[in-house]
Amino acid sequence: MISVAIDGPSGAGKSSLAKRLAKELGFIYVDTGAMYRAIGLYALRQGVDPASEQQVAQLLPQITIELRYENGAQRVILCGEDVSELIRQENVGMATSAVAAHPTVRSFLLELQRDMARKQNILMDGRDIGTVILPNATVKIFLTASAQARAERRLKELQQKGMETDFQTVLSDIEQRDYQDMNREIAPLKQAQDAVLVDTSNLDFEQSFETLRNLITSRI
Ligand code: C5P
Repeated sequence: MISVAIDGPSGAGKSSLAKRLAKELGFIYVDTGAMYRAIGLYALRQGVDPASEQQVAQLLPQITIELRYENGAQRVILCGEDVSELIRQENVGMATSAVAAHPTVRSFLLELQRDMARKQNILMDGRDIGTVILPNATVKIFLTASAQARAERRLKELQQKGMETDFQTVLSDIEQRDYQDMNREIAPLKQAQDAVLVDTSNLDFEQSFETLRNLITSRI
């Protein structure tokens, strides 16, 4: 099976690029962030503190997460409910970054993710795919951009959705999430030794897409 691992910080364009690349290559796209987000949402709904490993761990036996594909688009099913849109809220993103720091949460999702890669050609994006989940991935990419560039893109997206926010708030959210993801003890966000670094700060979507497509097709 062929596996492409794309890791990087939030807002680097991973998921929109990965979606389109997977379609072009005919691979299944696995958005691992969505799986962590489902757990973040569940914790918020249960009123537990996302930063408390003990409280979050107690919820895990009740949780089922399934990825379904409808017309090529990934849907996230949490305990039978389609939460694909709900998990995108800003407060869920922040809670997710906290729950994702717990070893019990990470091992809960590890097997699920590895299992998906055993059965089909996949393109998987996340933070620790090249370093922990699929150390033998066929191609590894570390996709990044400056915090400034990521905040500008994120602000545009939020404004298009009609949400009121400002650049400083978006930038400080991104910086806080980067800090949490890069400094946690288990599976921190970092570039795998054998990953190719792609910085999209000065590339638009099409240029980023072309760069990644050429890189992947030259290696599979
Ligand atoms: O990629 P996305 O922004 O949807 O991920 C949400 C959060 O989930 C990240 O900030 C990170 O804390 C966590 N995550 C992770 N490992 C992954 C994917 C996501 O820790 N493989």
